[in-house]
Amino acid sequence: MKFVVTRGQIVARGLTNRCPNCGARSLFEPGHPFTLRPGCPECGLKLERDEGSFLGAMSLNYGVTVCLYLVPILVAYLFLGLDGTVAAVAAGVGALGFPILFYRSSRSWWLMNYYLVLPHHLPANQRAVSEDEDANT
Ligand SMILES: [Zn+2]
Repeated sequence: MKFVVTRGQIVARGLTNRCPNCGARSLFEPGHPFTLRPGCPECGLKLERDEGSFLGAMSLNYGVTVCLYLVPILVAYLFLGLDGTVAAVAAGVGALGFPILFYRSSRSWWLMNYYLVLPHHLPANQRAVSEDEDANT
């Protein structure tokens, strides 16, 4: 099946915090950097999928914080001679700061993951689903 919005475009848009359907920079309310819009004002894509959709983004944020920030500090402490006090302070500050800085990306990446697995759920790709195929929407 050929999609109007390809998986490569979905990944590129997800990594740059853009709407997975139209590519607009419209995921968050202007002036409110941590408030995800309920829908894209450009194309109408529903961004808040359901009540618990933020849990996936929160889990993703936690996993990225542990894997990309805390584990390297632990490795630096255990094997590269990083001072224990420095490691503890960096881990403590980063454990709070990294998830805040990564919040917007985690929401976007979670949307990206959803549509990467189910690209036919994007409105732009709806017409690409053949008539005898279940869109499973
Ligand atoms: Zn859009």
